[in-house]
Amino acid sequence: MNCLEQKIVEKGIVKEGNVLKVDSFLNHQMDIELFNEMGKEWKKRFADKEINKILTIEASGIGIACVAAQHFGVPVVFAKKSKSINLEGDMYVAEVESFTHKNKNQVIVSKKFLDENDRVLIIDDFLANGCALQGLISIVQSSGASVEGIGIAIEKGFQAGGKIIRNLGFHLESLAIVEGMNAETGEIFFR
Ligand code: 5GP
Repeated sequence: MNCLEQKIVEKGIVKEGNVLKVDSFLNHQMDIELFNEMGKEWKKRFADKEINKILTIEASGIGIACVAAQHFGVPVVFAKKSKSINLEGDMYVAEVESFTHKNKNQVIVSKKFLDENDRVLIIDDFLANGCALQGLISIVQSSGASVEGIGIAIEKGFQAGGKIIRNLGFHLESLAIVEGMNAETGEIFFR
C-alpha cells in the first residue's frame, strides 16, 4: 500500500452515493508532505516525458498541482469555473458537469497561457466519470498543445472515467485506484 492509499484508509470517509470524503488531507485541509510524495511519484512515472506546463482545475486540483510542479520545475495553469456565458477576451472554453455538485460549469483558460508549444501534464484530485478530465483535454487540444500525461490522485475504478481516458490512448497515472467502497462499514478496497 502506498502512502496515499494508507492515508485514504486512515482518514477517508465513505459517503452514500459513491462519494469518498478526503477533506482532512486532500481537498480542504491539505497534507503537504503527502502532496510532495505524490509529486515525486508522478515525476518518476512521467520521467520520459518532456513536460513544460501543468494544467489543473480549480479549486481542489490547485494545491496538488503546485506541489507537484516543484518536481517538474514548470508553471501551473488552472482552469477557472465560470457560470457566465458572456466570456470576455480570448479564452479556451469547455463544458464540465460536476460529479459532486451535479451542475454544469464552463471552464476557461486564457489563450495567453496555453499554446501549440506546450507539452502538458494534467493533474487533478479525483477521477470519477471523467467529465472534468475530458474538459481539460479538450482545452489542451483546442490550444494545439499536447497532452503528455495525466496524473490523478484518486481514481474511482468502479466508475467509467479511467477506462474511457485510457481507451482514448492517454498515459494516465492514478496514485490510488479505489475498486469499491462500502458506506455502511466504511471499508475501502484498492485495485
Ligand atoms: P468526474 O468529472 O471524473 O466525474 O469527477 C471529477 C471531479 O469530481 C473531481 O475533480 C472531484 O472534484 C469530484 N469528485 C468526483 N468523485 C469524488 C469523490 O468521491 N469525492 C470527492 N471529494 N470528490 C469527487
